[in-house]
Amino acid sequence: MVATGRQLVLFQAAIELLVSTQITTPNLIADREAKLLARYAMHSSESAGRVHPEIEHLMRGPFQRDRDRVLHSSAFRRLSGKTQVFTGQGDYHRTRLTHTMEVASIARTIGRSLRLNEDLIEALALLHDIGHPPFGHAGEEALDEMLKHDGGFSHNKFALTLVEELEQRYPTFPGLNLTAEVLGGQKRRVDKQQSDGQHSPLLEVQVVDLADSITYNAHDVDDAVELGWLRIDELLELPIMAKCHESVLQKFGKLEGDVLRRALVHELVNLQVAHLIYESQQTLIELETLSAREVCETGVRLEIAGPLAEHKAGLQKFLYARLYRHADLVRARREAQAKIKVLVEILEENEQELPEMFRSRCSTHGTRVSVVECIASMTDNTFLETYQRFAG
Ligand code: MG
Repeated sequence: MVATGRQLVLFQAAIELLVSTQITTPNLIADREAKLLARYAMHSSESAGRVHPEIEHLMRGPFQRDRDRVLHSSAFRRLSGKTQVFTGQGDYHRTRLTHTMEVASIARTIGRSLRLNEDLIEALALLHDIGHPPFGHAGEEALDEMLKHDGGFSHNKFALTLVEELEQRYPTFPGLNLTAEVLGGQKRRVDKQQSDGQHSPLLEVQVVDLADSITYNAHDVDDAVELGWLRIDELLELPIMAKCHESVLQKFGKLEGDVLRRALVHELVNLQVAHLIYESQQTLIELETLSAREVCETGVRLEIAGPLAEHKAGLQKFLYARLYRHADLVRARREAQAKIKVLVEILEENEQELPEMFRSRCSTHGTRVSVVECIASMTDNTFLETYQRFAG
């Protein structure tokens, strides 16, 4: 459709209006957040900023901008081709990308109920798994072993390498130049084990972590039942699933097959999210007057507590024993790990075959580290094609 002269004039006027509000737009964002968010939420106006200072955007706050930067990154797009759990089992179940989108959705629901900063939550959620190599945790273990004399490999740490160094999208700085809060949230994932336990992460960071766990429990149950690896009747022996079934019976009466599976998975998410929101609201009442940073100093932790926490742990234990160690999965993982190790060694001997971005890092970061970074950046299919080319 061709725009008329009048439409073009109106469009030009709209642009001029936006430009004329350049000075006040950050204030509008601050005002909006002051009205909608709790005091303890991380407000954009309290952000510690970016490593490379930038002029505020006309229409978007800093965390909105970070979300978009992650969304438009090449590493984010590659999540669509990376295994979540079910290596080599077709493509009807979750990938890293759909897992990430589900985490973002559930985390935003929790965040909105607690009046936290949804833009920050979404940026953190979209970022949280961006550093996963091909073939999920199996790929991570193999790369970690190949780097055991060079500091090891972790997907959480590699996410930071991607967004601070490897993504090249802007002419004036390397990486995405994300805000300190988004980078800090990801750094907490790296340092989880070394945390001193006194200061807690921002509430938005905690919500994304909790949403991640709620999400993968639920969708792994969903995918595993659909693949025929778990049966609904054995799941119903677990207290948490029995409770979900009670709710399903109350709402819909007796269901069977796929309809029952979907209703149970829906209840599994609903039960945990509702519990978490309720418990968190009780916890946060006493902290209502504190700022985001003051809340961190209290060391407060949002959590699923009491019997539900035990029942959730029971489900996780069951999934580890019955699903994550399923013979087909173990076999596919072992094959993937063997191929990864072979390709690391071949590329290390043939550094000239690396793409320029990784080849140029060999002299500063070491050849093996650069090879591992190159492989970690690949989708499952790109890895298999590359393996075929060099070792097939
Ligand atoms: Mg995750």
